[in-house]
Order: sequence, then structure tokens, then C-alpha cells
Amino acid sequence: MSEPVKLSPSPYLNVDEEGIAQIRFNDPSRNANVLSEGVMRRLSQVIGEICEGIEAGKVKGVLIRSGKPASFIVGADIDAIAQVESPDQGALAARLGQTIYRELELLPVPTVAAIHGACMGGGTEMGLACRYRVASDHPKTRIGLPEVQLGILPAWGGTTRLPRLIGLQGALDLILTGKKLDGNRARKAGLVEAVFPHPIFEEAALDFLRKRIADGPIPTGASSPLPIRLLEATPPGRRIILSMARKKVMAQTGGNYPAPLRILEVIGASAGRSLERGFELEAEAAGELLASGVSKNLVHIFHLQEASKKGTGLPAGAEPRKVDRLGVVGAGVMGGGVAQLAANHGIQVRVKDIRHEAVGQALEHAQGLFRKRVERRRMSEREAEQAMERISGGIDYSGFGSLDLVVEAVVEKMEVKRAVLAEVEGKTSPGCILTTNTSTLSVDAMAEALARPENFAGMHFFNPVDRMPLVEVIAGARTSPEAVATVHALCLRMGKVPVVVRDGPGFLVNRILGPYLNEAGHLLAEGASIEVIDRAATRFGLPMGPLRLIDEIGIDVMRHAGEVLHQAFGQRLEPAAPLVRLGDTKRLGKKGGSGFYRYEGGKEQGVDPTVYGEMGLSIPEDEGPISIDDVRARLILAMINEAARVLEDGIAASAGDVDLAMIMGTGFPPFRGGLLRFADDQHPRTLVKRMEGLAVTLSGRFQPAPLLKTLAAEDREFYQAFPDPGK
Ligand code: NAD
Repeated sequence: MSEPVKLSPSPYLNVDEEGIAQIRFNDPSRNANVLSEGVMRRLSQVIGEICEGIEAGKVKGVLIRSGKPASFIVGADIDAIAQVESPDQGALAARLGQTIYRELELLPVPTVAAIHGACMGGGTEMGLACRYRVASDHPKTRIGLPEVQLGILPAWGGTTRLPRLIGLQGALDLILTGKKLDGNRARKAGLVEAVFPHPIFEEAALDFLRKRIADGPIPTGASSPLPIRLLEATPPGRRIILSMARKKVMAQTGGNYPAPLRILEVIGASAGRSLERGFELEAEAAGELLASGVSKNLVHIFHLQEASKKGTGLPAGAEPRKVDRLGVVGAGVMGGGVAQLAANHGIQVRVKDIRHEAVGQALEHAQGLFRKRVERRRMSEREAEQAMERISGGIDYSGFGSLDLVVEAVVEKMEVKRAVLAEVEGKTSPGCILTTNTSTLSVDAMAEALARPENFAGMHFFNPVDRMPLVEVIAGARTSPEAVATVHALCLRMGKVPVVVRDGPGFLVNRILGPYLNEAGHLLAEGASIEVIDRAATRFGLPMGPLRLIDEIGIDVMRHAGEVLHQAFGQRLEPAAPLVRLGDTKRLGKKGGSGFYRYEGGKEQGVDPTVYGEMGLSIPEDEGPISIDDVRARLILAMINEAARVLEDGIAASAGDVDLAMIMGTGFPPFRGGLLRFADDQHPRTLVKRMEGLAVTLSGRFQPAPLLKTLAAEDREFYQAFPDPGK
């Protein structure tokens, strides 16, 4: 028997003399309000008390608010979501929420959700069960239904109520993407009826309720243009909208994510039917999705991200230093990107290069990105101007004396980096932390050039900086815990996902990508076509295939990184002959207009067949001699085997770190839960067998890493052997 659920003290109920009942969410045990079962059952109790108050003539209206400073309700309890094992259990959990929100909806007095701060999932659904919703204009007010990102659907009435409130298209736009709206956008979408300035929000929300009590109801929801309303009003019109949405989902997900498809089915089947029918469909779909492997994998990734935010892998007791002023040395592709990112997050930036043009280009690049943000209404003109004002630059070190942290992003040459870092150390204060954005060079070898190696770490951003979420924080042998904590905290402040790794060739991501890209070269040598190799990877769910990725990285850069890995790891990473040949040609990949593919204006134009000749290969007649399944197995096994070595060598501390880094740094498919979670699903025993089979024929490249063999022999998995430090 499961234990009885402990009732939470939150939400609290207060009824004043005016007859206004305030339901205040303020969970004393958490920073944010989460809708655990104990909270939901307490809410039901509160609604019961309100019903009695209404009958006694003491309650005339209800206001729901949060007692947290800038957070409303962040949604259901994710741990409870993770624990659902069967569809029946999942459907039951959905029905509990639906029933309680139905009690709220049926209250015969005006009800208002006063939303200030984050309002997600079950919080938004609670709002939908109220008669009205009002929001504050504070930037922290964000309203959304992000369930789809966890592989599920809003099943406490949200999928049923939202289309009825704001129309089919508006609802799909929110439910299928999990996108979050600020107060004003929520009003435009019809999700809230009014937006009030933050300083007077509480009083204005109460006034809104008083008016509804005194003056009666006002219309709610969206008023979409007539043609859209007409389209949505008829079954054939709705079918058109739903089928277009389905096509878009398929194009974006390849059908690998069941939740958005199930959401479309539920919304389609529920339209024009009773609320009760909608709830039944929701609960049934919730049960299936909650118990599905994909949802479990997405919840797992959510936990990895939370752990990264909390810094569970950081040395205990290390306090980060404050970073208000950042220096960037080297204003190229990466330096320019870092400068823009920092300025976008309120940090003063000083850029230094040896060339005026580079500084100018970096400023232009930043300006261009801010302009795009303005166009997409992510920021106002004024905010963009203010952000640009935070960046200054030049070819001297002026201003470096007052910097808190410097990112070095000059050319990838050890001698240059050592000289530049030593020079920067001389121009900055003793407390300033220096970091390098190197992608292949040893952080420890660079530290030798410094007088204060404890203040030095790697900060490996990925290209393009504004879009790639991962930063590898490289803790060198002499880096102080405080420096690591400072770089980690800075990454979080800039909205990035930091993963702390140790120094070693290729660090984590590039090291694991090395054998994968190289295997693609070996496959080419054996006659596989470019199309088949890349298709094998994209069918697995990767955003692009290995050859397309080489084009993206740059053939010159790949060649250099390949050499570094070869030197470090010897024969198993000896570059495949076609890739060596390719490196000797003039092809640069996407940036030069041709690689494995041709590019025009930065857009890919299909495979360039002449590349085969340049690699010393003939054009494959058909798809080549290796089946797409074998191609895929070799590509993925190459990564798993290297990931095992990364753990063995202590580069990464946990299987979760490897998975988070690969997802955020390469787009490894989230629905698979991560590279090593995928490996665990297959089980190390099966993987070792498969690799030993391949090792016989493929010159030992697939010799299983010792760690994999041990795991197989001990019948253990990666996540058991390398759990997250927080667990
Ligand atoms: P880049 O060639 O675009 O820019 C390098 C800049 O450094 C140039 O503007 C150059 O003038 C400047 N520079 C050279 N010597 C200097 C000196 N002594 N002082 C100040 N400035 C100097 O290179 P990039 O692609 O931005 O790469 C920079 C670093 O980032 C490299 O270490 C690279 O390995 C790393 N990295 C690059 C990528 C990528 O995809 N481009 C990704 C991750 C990391």
C-alpha cells in the first residue's frame, strides 16, 4: 500500500470582510510553487471551504495568487511525473487534477488568477479553469504550457480548455511548442484579460475582481480575424489546420516524439464535443505518454539541466566571484559572439584584437544579432541600444585593469595563446580570472605560461555562440575551485548550460565527435555514399550527418582537430584516408562554398559529386555496399566507445555530464535521453558483443574500451557506475 499523501499547508485561504477569498500559493518547503499531490489535495479542501463560504453568503469572488516574490506556479511535480509507471497510473493522476480544477471552474462567483512571475503547465491550467486571468507586466511573468517538452500533454484540462478560449491555431501554437508568453503577448493571444504594471499589480488585480463582482462579466478569450474563426468553426476547416500542423510537426521531429502527434489527435477529437469528453481524451493520452520511454528520457534531460544549474558537480564550498566586466581578446567569429552574448546579459564588455577591422566586424556582428532580436520582438530598440553601449573595443589593453574575467579567443596556436595570456595577465588585476576558448589545445600547457595558474580555466563555447547552449568549463590541474565556480556561474548568467570537464585532448564533445567523424571517413573509403552516411545519422535523430557536420565545422578545422586527436590517441584515431586527401584540397566546407556538399549564400545545395574524385574515390553507383543499419551502428558505437574512455580518463565525472554535453553541444537527439542512456538501454553486454564483431574486420578500431568490457562483465550500466554526483 502506498503511504497516504501528506496535505500541504499551501495554498492558504483568507476571506476578507468584502467577501473576497484569496487563495495564496506559498509552499514553505520550496523556492517555487509546485503542484504536488499534497498541494492539489489542499487546493481541493480550500475550494470546499470557499463553497461553504459562498453558501453562507460570505464569499463573493475568488483571487488566486502566489506568495513568492516573482514566481506564480511552475507546474506539476516533475518527480511525480517521473514515477508514473503505467498508463492507468498516469491517467489517474490526470483525472485528479481535472476533477479539482473542475471544482474551481464550477464555483458560482467570479474567479481571477493573478499571474505574476513564471506560470507554467498546471499553473496555467489552473488559470484556464478560472473565469478570468490577469498578468503583471514584469519581465519574469511568463505563461506557458511546456508539457510537450517533457513528452506529455497538458492534461489537467489545458488541452481541452485552451482551444475553446483562444481558438485552435492560437492553442496549437502554445501547446505544440511549449512557448512562453509575457503579459502583453498573453493578452494579445487572448490568454489573459488584462495586464497591470508590476508595482500596483496586487491592488489592480483585486480591483479587477471587485469590478467583476459589481459590474458582472466581461468577454474573455481571443477575437481572431473572421476568416480564421470561420475556418475553425467547421470540421473540414479544423481538419485543414490540424493536418498542416501535423505536417510541420513531422518535418520538425521526424515523428520521433509521440507527444505533439497525440496532442493533435486529442485536440482534433475533442473539438465540438463536451468538456468531459475532452478531459477523458486528455487523461487517456496522458496515461500513455507519461508511461512512455520518450517522456522518461525527456524528464531525465530536464533533471540533468537542473543539476547543471545547481552546480552539483562543483567542488564543495567554492564561492563564485562576481563578474560585471568582461574582457574578450581576439574579436573573431568566437570572440565577437562571446562579446554579444555577455552584453545581452547585462555585462560590460571590452574587446581587444590586433586589428581594427576585427574589432569593427565584431561590433557589427553584435549589432546584427541585436537587430534580429528587435525584429523578433525579443527586445526593444532601447534595450538593443543599451546592450550595444555595453560593448567597447580597440587594439590596446585600455580598461583591462578593472576586468573581472577575460575570455581569450585568438587563433588556435599554442605559442600565440601562451604569449597572449601572459600579456593579458600583466594587464589585469591579480583577482581577474583568465579563460581560454580553445577547442583542442591543453589548458594545463597554457597555464605554464602564467604566474597565477589557479586563476585560469578553459571556457569552450560552441559555434555559433548565440545559439549553441553548451559551454565546456575546463578545470585544469591547477585551476582553483573558485575559478571553476566563477566560470560556471557566468555561463548560467549568460543563459548557457555549463558542463565541467577536466583537461584532455578534445575535452569531451570534440573528443567523442572525433572517432565518429573519422568513422564516416572510413565508411566513405569502403564505398558508402555521402547520402547514406548522413541519412543514417539523421534517421537516428541527429540534426545533421557527420559529413554535413564536417562541412559546418570547416574542413581545415576538422583536419587540425583530427591531427591533435591522432597525436594524442594513436592508431585508433588515425585519420581515414579520404579525409586526409580532402584536407589537402582547397575545399573548406560551408564557409568556402564547397565541401561534401555545395553551398550558395550559405544554403546547402545538395551533395557535390566531384568531391569523391578529390578524395581518391569513385562515385558510388547506388547506395554503396554497407547497409544503412550497419552504417548507423558503426557511427554510434564509435561515439559510445570514446565516451567510455572519456569517463575512464576522468575527463567527465558522470554519465549524465557526457549526455548533457552531447545533447547541448551536438544536438544528440533528446528523445533518446543521451548517448550513454541510449547505450544503457542497449546494455554494455550487447554493445561489447557488437563491437568485438566489428573489431575483427575493422583493424581493431572497435576494440571495446576497457571500461565497457568491465561493465559488460559485471552486468552494470554507465549510469550505475558513474551516477550524478548529486545522487
Ligand atoms: P578567428 O580567426 O575568427 O578569430 C581570431 C581573432 O584573433 C582574429 O580577429 C585575430 O585578429 C585575433 N588575434 C590573433 N592574434 C591576436 C592577438 N595576439 N591579440 C589579439 N587578437 C588576436 O577565430 P575563431 O574561429 O573565432 O577562433 C578563436 C578561438 O576559438 C580558437 O582558439 C578556436 O579554436 C576556438 N573555437 C573556434 C570555434 C569555431 O567554430 N570557430 C569553436 C570553438 C572554439
